[in-house]
Amino acid sequence: MIPSAYAELDMAAVTYNLARIRAYAPKAKIMAVIKANAYGHGLIRIAKTLADADAFAVARLGEGIALREAGITQRIAVLQGFVDREELEFHIRYGLEPVVHSPPQVELLEQISSAESVSVWLKLDTGMHRLGLLADEFAPSYSRLQRCPAIRRPIPVMTHLANADVLQDAITEKQLDCFNSALRNIQTECSIANSAGLLAWDGTRSGWVRPGIALYGVSPFPGRTGPDEGLRPVMTFRSRLIATKNLKAGDAVGYGGEWICPCSTRLGIVSVGYGDGYPRHARAGTPALIQGRRVSLVGRVSMDMISLDLTNCPDARVGDEVTLWGKGLPVEEIAQHASTIPYALLCGVTPRVKMVERWE
Ligand SMILES: *Cc1c(COP(=O)(O)O)cnc(C)c1O
Repeated sequence: MIPSAYAELDMAAVTYNLARIRAYAPKAKIMAVIKANAYGHGLIRIAKTLADADAFAVARLGEGIALREAGITQRIAVLQGFVDREELEFHIRYGLEPVVHSPPQVELLEQISSAESVSVWLKLDTGMHRLGLLADEFAPSYSRLQRCPAIRRPIPVMTHLANADVLQDAITEKQLDCFNSALRNIQTECSIANSAGLLAWDGTRSGWVRPGIALYGVSPFPGRTGPDEGLRPVMTFRSRLIATKNLKAGDAVGYGGEWICPCSTRLGIVSVGYGDGYPRHARAGTPALIQGRRVSLVGRVSMDMISLDLTNCPDARVGDEVTLWGKGLPVEEIAQHASTIPYALLCGVTPRVKMVERWE
């Protein structure tokens, strides 16, 4: 029997995508970004599958500790770093590498004893204006850290691109110029590229690359899909048809009765809703697959169910498998129909959705 709302994970696609990324940036080391529960795919499972990654990046300390407690031994960068001494000590205790992005963090590092030893990543803000030292803070912070006995050298330097998914955007060139001029007199390892950078921007592929979304087989570029980049989608989100019914022209479907049958319509009810992470704002016309045929979402998405117009699939029966996104139906396309991005759909799959690993 097909279960309700489950996510099938093509685990071979994870290692395949890692190899594709290496081919895009053959000289770079790969820091695999597995924050937010590995973009909804399962933090520990993905870390174990990415045994060939040179390092990992997570957003928060707790994610790094979870990796260490699961026995992950690679280098782990913590992108948000620490806000106080206690958090810094946890980084040290667990062998995690905080990203240092503000002068108060530099001060905290200057206070730790030389008996300790910590690797850090220094982050320069080249125009994203989220985390990172501003250009005038950078050189003094770098020299102060160079003098801290507890910090391992060389200190690698990173930045984050704000617009790399927009091809030929002047902002990325400006960020690269800013980065290169700040680093002109510094000999160290660098890290610039996210997925969009390493797929599309020549100047970003040296040192360390930091792919996230590409590892999961999804394109960072609007209007493109993972397979367009030579990647294989990892997650296929599925459920099953639990009821069908024949409605007349004029019958309204779902909460608010917003969608009204234009003619007699065979309707299918699927056991998936926003309680599973299916986007509540998916519009009428959002595709799903039954028996390999595209059918359309109609009516509002509810917590546990959605309704489909089965006109394109007259043989659909109760118990049939329904693909919501993944193999044969790019998550990028569903995101567009729901006015969101594939990142948010993947991260938004809720804990009640069973994850099923497939290895063939
Ligand atoms: C999330 C993140 C990445 C990965 O971004 P993708 O677009 O998923 O490849 C890289 N670097 C930093 C600093 C991030 O926050």
